[in-house]
Amino acid sequence: MTGPKTQALRERFDAALMPNYGTPPVAFASGRGCRVTDLDGAEYLDLIAGIAVSSLGHAHPALIEAVSAQATRFAHSSNLFLHEPEVELAEKLLTLLGRQSTDARVFFSNSGTEANEAALKLVKRANGEGRSYLVATEDGFHGRTMGALALTGKASIREPFGPFGMDVRFVPYGDAEAMREAVGPECIAVFVEPAQGEAGVVPPPAGYLRAVREACDATGTLLVLDEIQSGIGRTGVWFAHQAEGVVPDVLTLAKGLGGGLPIGACVGIGAMGTAFAKGDHGSTFGGNPIAVAAALAVLTTIERDDLMTNAVKAGQVLSEGIAELDHPLLTGVRGRGLWLAAVLAEAAAPQVQAAAQEAGFLVNAVQPDAIRIAPPLILTLEEARSFVTALPGILDAAREGK
Ligand SMILES: *Cc1c(COP(=O)(O)O)cnc(C)c1O
Repeated sequence: MTGPKTQALRERFDAALMPNYGTPPVAFASGRGCRVTDLDGAEYLDLIAGIAVSSLGHAHPALIEAVSAQATRFAHSSNLFLHEPEVELAEKLLTLLGRQSTDARVFFSNSGTEANEAALKLVKRANGEGRSYLVATEDGFHGRTMGALALTGKASIREPFGPFGMDVRFVPYGDAEAMREAVGPECIAVFVEPAQGEAGVVPPPAGYLRAVREACDATGTLLVLDEIQSGIGRTGVWFAHQAEGVVPDVLTLAKGLGGGLPIGACVGIGAMGTAFAKGDHGSTFGGNPIAVAAALAVLTTIERDDLMTNAVKAGQVLSEGIAELDHPLLTGVRGRGLWLAAVLAEAAAPQVQAAAQEAGFLVNAVQPDAIRIAPPLILTLEEARSFVTALPGILDAAREGK
């Protein structure tokens, strides 16, 4: 039930904000850990974390401390001036990637789409001469700004805004042969996700990323891995590609990196670390001190509290628990760690999302037949179990509500 305060705010939202999101059903009032309370006092277990963003859940002491401490010093410097947290975060990311600044460098943006815009300019700068096109995957998602949108494989969100002035060729995701055929000596770069997030948390067949890497190596094409959703510990490793033994030329990050503060990163590996010349790219807010302080708190807390192990364990409770359920509306579960999709037998995801909300769980109808589960990495095993226990009732209610 939507309470009266939520309903009143939804009406004000409709009257003041553009209709691009539709009207969200729940209005946050406060959160703590994996729990959120809405304006009318209803409580929810947050199993979506603002789309894989709130890595440490809500109101985490480490995030509060980092953000407040930085805010008492200075909130912004611009890139006319440097500051230590930004350098520290770049160093930390390189360490987690197993690189050193001799062979990799970081550019900070404010969002995922901007990280991909940086990557796009970087590969054009480094590999654009004598090469004419890019390859990306059908149903892939890389962002909403014009460059990232040009690489986004879902025609319904891309095509109304074209043409983009770029030759981007789309291949079916997970099809190594199609990738080999598309990647030729005139290809600048391939943009690909380690598993497709917005398409419904869809992992590729084993060995796919390696095959993409080989197709790139054979033709001098650069490999850009978009780990904006998959990165920062969510799958049980810092970056999903580390489980595949594949090294990209460019890596993009955002979402979980700031734990809720807006920050993205484009990491250039090898020669890509130094492919931008002075003046080639920039951002007034990129590397913002408060966002950077938050990201450092996220990374150090994941390490200190061993949250990647927790992601594996809590993920197992969810995925094994869901896989064992026998319900006519449920056909299975896919994904890894705390990045999962419950797959439905029919296009009932909106009804399941609504029924979950009624039962006190926030999940996301990422596709008509898929429910995305991407909770904070601090999700306890007990919290994971509570959802598995509630799911059959949620699915029943969804079927009745249809
Ligand atoms: C969310 C997402 C983006 C876009 O990030 P924004 O911060 O929304 O611009 C790009 N790529 C992937 C894989 C994403 O999941």
